Amino acid sequence: MWRYAELLPVFDEKNIVSLGEGWTPIHSLDKLAQKTNIAKILIKDESVNPTGSFKARGISMAISKAKEFGIENVVIPTAGNAGGAMAAYCAKADIKATVIMPRHTTETLKEECRLFGAELILLDGLIDKCGKLAKQLSEEKGYFDMSTMKEPYRLEGKKTLGFEIAEQLNWRLPDVIIYPTGGGTGLIGMWKAFKEMKKLGWIKGKLPKMVIVQSEICAPMMEIFKSGALSNNYNPQPSLAYGLAVPFPFAKDLMIQVVQESKGTVITVSEDQIQQGIREVASQEGMLLSPEGSATYKGMQKLLTNAWIKEDETILLFNTGSWYKYR
Ligand SMILES: *Cc1c(COP(=O)(O)O)cnc(C)c1O
Repeated sequence: MWRYAELLPVFDEKNIVSLGEGWTPIHSLDKLAQKTNIAKILIKDESVNPTGSFKARGISMAISKAKEFGIENVVIPTAGNAGGAMAAYCAKADIKATVIMPRHTTETLKEECRLFGAELILLDGLIDKCGKLAKQLSEEKGYFDMSTMKEPYRLEGKKTLGFEIAEQLNWRLPDVIIYPTGGGTGLIGMWKAFKEMKKLGWIKGKLPKMVIVQSEICAPMMEIFKSGALSNNYNPQPSLAYGLAVPFPFAKDLMIQVVQESKGTVITVSEDQIQQGIREVASQEGMLLSPEGSATYKGMQKLLTNAWIKEDETILLFNTGSWYKYR
């Protein structure tokens, strides 16, 4: 992703901390497209990033900037993947990492943090509770808080998704982008990238409609999109798509703005559908999706059923993480 260094906020390239993130492939799901009668279904496979998720992009950027600032201690609340990525880049950068994770997270996600040398703290509850402890540690011990959207640099790393999509698709963006949304970094980051590229004259014409997909059992953005706020009986549960289990996203207003400006929408899928989607794509296309990736596929089917997506449109899905990390 550092091919876009001129558009990223690291001043001296010797501060770049890279493990080979970015420039991930875009695959065409031809069999499934034919079956559903749709022009083109593309999927950007972010599972091949270091530590097996697209969190590597934001964290590579943020840890590089931390190095440039001379920061020695960082802390992150995580549903799993961000913590593993931060632990890895901190190992490379000689920065001390503290990772705070829900106890119910799978062993793989915990063990990678330990192997990378991070201090791992486990809490009962969801990521919002981990976020409170991260804030406390940053106030008491001066650790730099890497919470999603509470610092500006992870977004800049995620922005490279937008540049890559444009460059890989020959500067013609897809009609619809379906994004598995937790904290929203990638959604907001891509939208920022599209606007920057327009200003630079790299792209012209219409920008993609941006769609948020979440799990039915943890769908704050659906409630906020429909009625402007979380309802009184809002009761978020831990989804098997950990990356989507963000019950109180800090950047909710920015996400709504992206959806509205792009004429996108918000949809949800059930936990059963997420599991079905993994089987369908694996058996038809030979590709294993993370639960979050599957949510984008099932979300697309839903939008086809209610005719929100038209058959001549090009759709871009994301496989944001590696299936192998959810064991
Ligand atoms: C974090 C994560 C998401 C959500 O990404 P945001 O940009 O925070 O909305 C989706 N999928 C996976 C695998 C993740 O790790």
